[in-house]
Amino acid sequence: MLMINRFLSFCVGNSQPLSGIPEARALDPFASERERMVREQIWQRGIRDRRVIKAMRKVPRHRFVPAEMQDRAYSDRPLSIGYDQTISQPYIVAFMTEAAQLKPESVVLEIGTGSGYQTAVLAELAQQVYSLERIPALAEQAQQTLDALGYQNIHIRQGDGYQGWPEHAPYDAIVVTAAPPTLPPLLLEQLAVGGTLVIPVGEGSQSLLILSKTAEGYTQKGSFPVQFVPMV
Ligand code: SAH
Repeated sequence: MLMINRFLSFCVGNSQPLSGIPEARALDPFASERERMVREQIWQRGIRDRRVIKAMRKVPRHRFVPAEMQDRAYSDRPLSIGYDQTISQPYIVAFMTEAAQLKPESVVLEIGTGSGYQTAVLAELAQQVYSLERIPALAEQAQQTLDALGYQNIHIRQGDGYQGWPEHAPYDAIVVTAAPPTLPPLLLEQLAVGGTLVIPVGEGSQSLLILSKTAEGYTQKGSFPVQFVPMV
Protein backbone atom coordinates (compact mmCIF):
# COMPACT_ATOMS: atom_id res chain seq x y z
CA MET A 1 0.00 0.00 0.00
CA LEU A 2 2.76 2.37 0.96
CA MET A 3 4.56 1.73 -2.29
CA ILE A 4 1.41 2.38 -4.30
CA ASN A 5 0.95 5.53 -2.30
CA ARG A 6 4.41 6.76 -3.03
CA PHE A 7 4.18 5.78 -6.65
CA LEU A 8 0.89 7.60 -6.95
CA SER A 9 2.29 10.83 -5.52
CA PHE A 10 5.21 10.44 -7.86
CA CYS A 11 2.92 9.93 -10.84
CA VAL A 12 0.69 12.89 -10.29
CA GLY A 13 3.39 15.25 -9.08
CA ASN A 14 3.13 17.25 -5.88
CA SER A 15 1.38 20.36 -7.10
CA GLN A 16 -1.89 19.19 -5.50
CA PRO A 17 -2.87 20.20 -1.99
CA LEU A 18 -1.43 17.57 0.32
CA SER A 19 -4.05 15.98 2.50
CA GLY A 20 -1.40 15.13 5.07
CA ILE A 21 -0.82 18.81 5.83
CA PRO A 22 -3.00 19.92 8.78
CA GLU A 23 -4.01 23.22 7.11
CA ALA A 24 -5.21 21.36 4.01
CA ARG A 25 -7.28 19.02 6.13
CA ALA A 26 -8.84 21.95 7.96
CA LEU A 27 -9.77 23.56 4.64
CA ASP A 28 -11.25 20.36 3.24
CA PRO A 29 -12.25 17.78 5.86
CA PHE A 30 -12.80 15.25 3.04
CA ALA A 31 -9.31 15.52 1.55
CA SER A 32 -8.02 12.27 3.03
CA GLU A 33 -11.18 10.36 2.08
CA ARG A 34 -10.77 11.62 -1.47
CA GLU A 35 -7.14 10.50 -1.56
CA ARG A 36 -8.25 7.07 -0.39
CA MET A 37 -10.97 6.95 -3.04
CA VAL A 38 -8.40 7.70 -5.75
CA ARG A 39 -5.94 5.13 -4.41
CA GLU A 40 -8.37 2.26 -3.83
CA GLN A 41 -11.10 2.80 -6.41
CA ILE A 42 -9.29 4.53 -9.27
CA TRP A 43 -5.59 3.73 -9.25
CA GLN A 44 -5.83 0.16 -8.02
CA ARG A 45 -8.43 -0.62 -10.69
CA GLY A 46 -6.14 0.44 -13.46
CA ILE A 47 -6.84 4.09 -14.32
CA ARG A 48 -3.43 5.42 -15.31
CA ASP A 49 -4.00 8.73 -17.14
CA ARG A 50 -2.24 11.16 -14.82
CA ARG A 51 -4.49 14.10 -15.79
CA VAL A 52 -7.57 12.05 -14.91
CA ILE A 53 -6.07 11.07 -11.57
CA LYS A 54 -5.17 14.67 -10.83
CA ALA A 55 -8.77 15.76 -11.57
CA MET A 56 -10.22 13.00 -9.39
CA ARG A 57 -7.93 14.11 -6.56
CA LYS A 58 -9.03 17.69 -6.94
CA VAL A 59 -12.81 17.79 -7.52
CA PRO A 60 -14.66 17.83 -4.17
CA ARG A 61 -17.23 15.09 -4.79
CA HIS A 62 -18.94 15.77 -1.44
CA ARG A 63 -20.11 19.14 -2.78
CA PHE A 64 -22.17 17.34 -5.46
CA VAL A 65 -24.27 15.12 -3.19
CA PRO A 66 -27.19 16.10 -0.93
CA ALA A 67 -25.97 17.41 2.45
CA GLU A 68 -27.26 14.39 4.37
CA MET A 69 -25.16 12.06 2.19
CA GLN A 70 -21.85 13.89 2.39
CA ASP A 71 -20.37 11.24 4.67
CA ARG A 72 -20.91 8.67 1.87
CA ALA A 73 -19.73 10.89 -0.98
CA TYR A 74 -16.45 8.97 -1.46
CA SER A 75 -17.89 5.47 -1.19
CA ASP A 76 -17.54 3.02 -4.06
CA ARG A 77 -21.05 3.39 -5.52
CA PRO A 78 -23.60 5.70 -7.11
CA LEU A 79 -25.74 7.81 -4.74
CA SER A 80 -29.20 9.25 -5.09
CA ILE A 81 -29.40 12.95 -6.05
CA GLY A 82 -33.21 13.09 -6.09
CA TYR A 83 -35.65 13.01 -9.04
CA ASP A 84 -34.90 9.25 -9.39
CA GLN A 85 -31.38 10.07 -10.63
CA THR A 86 -27.94 9.22 -9.30
CA ILE A 87 -24.41 10.60 -9.19
CA SER A 88 -22.27 7.95 -10.90
CA GLN A 89 -19.80 5.76 -9.02
CA PRO A 90 -16.34 7.44 -8.88
CA TYR A 91 -14.65 4.66 -10.87
CA ILE A 92 -17.16 4.98 -13.72
CA VAL A 93 -16.58 8.74 -13.87
CA ALA A 94 -12.81 8.20 -14.05
CA PHE A 95 -13.16 5.39 -16.59
CA MET A 96 -15.41 7.41 -18.91
CA THR A 97 -13.21 10.47 -18.61
CA GLU A 98 -10.09 8.45 -19.44
CA ALA A 99 -11.90 6.86 -22.39
CA ALA A 100 -12.78 10.32 -23.77
CA GLN A 101 -9.05 11.03 -24.31
CA LEU A 102 -9.31 14.76 -23.69
CA LYS A 103 -6.64 17.29 -24.49
CA PRO A 104 -6.39 20.78 -22.94
CA GLU A 105 -7.85 22.25 -26.15
CA SER A 106 -10.78 19.78 -26.40
CA VAL A 107 -14.38 20.91 -26.61
CA VAL A 108 -16.68 18.38 -24.94
CA LEU A 109 -20.41 17.73 -24.91
CA GLU A 110 -21.88 15.90 -21.91
CA ILE A 111 -25.41 14.52 -21.89
CA GLY A 112 -26.95 14.15 -18.42
CA THR A 113 -25.44 16.82 -16.15
CA GLY A 114 -27.11 15.33 -13.06
CA SER A 115 -25.14 16.52 -10.04
CA GLY A 116 -22.48 18.17 -12.23
CA TYR A 117 -19.68 16.01 -10.78
CA GLN A 118 -18.64 14.40 -14.07
CA THR A 119 -18.99 17.85 -15.67
CA ALA A 120 -16.41 19.25 -13.23
CA VAL A 121 -14.00 16.37 -13.86
CA LEU A 122 -14.30 16.92 -17.62
CA ALA A 123 -13.79 20.67 -17.15
CA GLU A 124 -10.49 19.99 -15.37
CA LEU A 125 -9.19 18.31 -18.54
CA ALA A 126 -10.80 20.14 -21.46
CA GLN A 127 -11.06 23.69 -22.69
CA GLN A 128 -14.87 23.96 -22.79
CA VAL A 129 -17.60 21.65 -21.54
CA TYR A 130 -21.19 21.93 -22.76
CA SER A 131 -23.64 19.89 -20.72
CA LEU A 132 -27.33 19.13 -21.27
CA GLU A 133 -29.74 18.07 -18.54
CA ARG A 134 -33.40 17.17 -18.97
CA ILE A 135 -34.59 17.99 -15.43
CA PRO A 136 -34.60 21.78 -14.83
CA ALA A 137 -34.04 21.57 -11.05
CA LEU A 138 -30.95 19.38 -11.50
CA ALA A 139 -29.53 21.67 -14.18
CA GLU A 140 -30.03 24.65 -11.86
CA GLN A 141 -28.53 22.92 -8.83
CA ALA A 142 -25.49 21.74 -10.80
CA GLN A 143 -24.97 25.24 -12.18
CA GLN A 144 -25.00 26.67 -8.63
CA THR A 145 -22.51 24.07 -7.35
CA LEU A 146 -20.14 24.62 -10.29
CA ASP A 147 -20.40 28.42 -10.00
CA ALA A 148 -19.59 28.22 -6.30
CA LEU A 149 -16.48 26.17 -7.15
CA GLY A 150 -15.42 28.82 -9.68
CA TYR A 151 -15.63 26.85 -12.95
CA GLN A 152 -15.74 29.21 -15.93
CA ASN A 153 -15.46 26.75 -18.80
CA ILE A 154 -18.75 24.93 -18.15
CA HIS A 155 -22.00 25.75 -19.95
CA ILE A 156 -25.16 24.00 -18.77
CA ARG A 157 -28.48 24.05 -20.57
CA GLN A 158 -31.76 22.40 -19.80
CA GLY A 159 -32.70 20.38 -22.86
CA ASP A 160 -33.08 17.05 -24.58
CA GLY A 161 -29.83 15.16 -25.02
CA TYR A 162 -31.13 13.30 -28.07
CA GLN A 163 -30.92 16.62 -29.95
CA GLY A 164 -27.38 17.36 -28.82
CA TRP A 165 -26.20 20.98 -28.81
CA PRO A 166 -25.58 21.78 -32.49
CA GLU A 167 -24.44 25.41 -31.96
CA HIS A 168 -21.05 24.35 -30.60
CA ALA A 169 -20.49 21.22 -32.72
CA PRO A 170 -18.35 19.50 -33.77
CA TYR A 171 -17.16 18.16 -30.41
CA ASP A 172 -13.84 16.45 -29.79
CA ALA A 173 -15.62 14.14 -27.35
CA ILE A 174 -19.18 13.41 -26.28
CA VAL A 175 -19.77 11.73 -22.93
CA VAL A 176 -23.27 10.41 -22.23
CA THR A 177 -24.24 9.46 -18.66
CA ALA A 178 -27.75 8.09 -19.27
CA ALA A 179 -28.48 5.08 -21.47
CA PRO A 180 -30.51 5.40 -24.71
CA PRO A 181 -31.87 2.16 -26.25
CA THR A 182 -29.84 2.75 -29.42
CA LEU A 183 -27.13 5.12 -30.60
CA PRO A 184 -28.65 8.64 -31.06
CA PRO A 185 -27.78 9.68 -34.64
CA LEU A 186 -27.57 13.41 -33.89
CA LEU A 187 -24.86 12.84 -31.29
CA LEU A 188 -22.72 10.96 -33.77
CA GLU A 189 -23.38 13.72 -36.28
CA GLN A 190 -22.15 16.40 -33.85
CA LEU A 191 -18.89 14.57 -33.14
CA ALA A 192 -15.72 15.68 -34.98
CA VAL A 193 -13.99 13.15 -37.20
CA GLY A 194 -11.37 11.57 -34.93
CA GLY A 195 -13.49 12.41 -31.88
CA THR A 196 -14.62 9.93 -29.22
CA LEU A 197 -18.15 9.05 -28.13
CA VAL A 198 -18.48 7.37 -24.73
CA ILE A 199 -22.03 6.12 -24.27
CA PRO A 200 -23.97 3.42 -22.43
CA VAL A 201 -26.46 1.82 -24.84
CA GLY A 202 -29.24 -0.68 -24.28
CA GLU A 203 -32.41 -1.46 -22.38
CA GLY A 204 -32.18 -3.85 -19.45
CA SER A 205 -28.65 -4.99 -20.11
CA GLN A 206 -26.45 -2.12 -21.26
CA SER A 207 -22.99 -1.81 -22.77
CA LEU A 208 -20.71 1.16 -22.38
CA LEU A 209 -19.46 1.78 -25.91
CA ILE A 210 -16.33 3.71 -26.80
CA LEU A 211 -16.59 4.82 -30.42
CA SER A 212 -14.24 6.79 -32.60
CA LYS A 213 -15.74 8.75 -35.49
CA THR A 214 -14.22 8.21 -38.92
CA ALA A 215 -14.93 9.89 -42.27
CA GLU A 216 -17.09 6.88 -43.22
CA GLY A 217 -18.88 6.24 -39.91
CA TYR A 218 -17.28 5.00 -36.71
CA THR A 219 -15.09 2.29 -35.24
CA GLN A 220 -15.72 0.67 -31.88
CA LYS A 221 -12.80 0.72 -29.46
CA GLY A 222 -14.41 -0.97 -26.49
CA SER A 223 -17.58 -2.32 -24.89
CA PHE A 224 -18.18 -2.95 -21.19
CA PRO A 225 -21.28 -4.10 -19.26
CA VAL A 226 -22.72 -1.23 -17.18
CA GLN A 227 -25.90 -0.03 -15.46
CA PHE A 228 -27.02 3.57 -16.02
CA VAL A 229 -30.35 5.34 -15.60
CA PRO A 230 -32.25 5.39 -18.91
CA MET A 231 -31.97 8.36 -21.27
CA VAL A 232 -35.57 9.48 -21.74
N1 SAH B 1 -23.09 12.43 -14.64
C1 SAH B 1 -24.16 12.53 -13.70
C2 SAH B 1 -25.09 11.36 -13.87
C3 SAH B 1 -26.47 11.74 -13.67
S1 SAH B 1 -27.62 10.44 -13.98
C4 SAH B 1 -23.61 12.56 -12.29
O1 SAH B 1 -22.62 11.87 -12.03
O2 SAH B 1 -24.16 13.24 -11.44
C5 SAH B 1 -28.10 10.78 -15.65
C6 SAH B 1 -28.71 12.13 -15.90
O3 SAH B 1 -29.16 12.14 -17.26
C7 SAH B 1 -29.92 12.47 -15.06
O4 SAH B 1 -29.71 13.69 -14.40
C8 SAH B 1 -31.07 12.56 -16.07
O5 SAH B 1 -32.04 13.52 -15.75
C9 SAH B 1 -30.33 12.92 -17.33
N2 SAH B 1 -31.05 12.60 -18.57
C10 SAH B 1 -31.80 11.50 -18.86
N3 SAH B 1 -32.30 11.57 -20.10
C11 SAH B 1 -31.85 12.75 -20.62
C12 SAH B 1 -32.03 13.40 -21.88
N4 SAH B 1 -32.76 12.87 -22.85
N5 SAH B 1 -31.43 14.60 -22.07
C13 SAH B 1 -30.68 15.17 -21.08
N6 SAH B 1 -30.48 14.59 -19.89
C14 SAH B 1 -31.06 13.41 -19.64
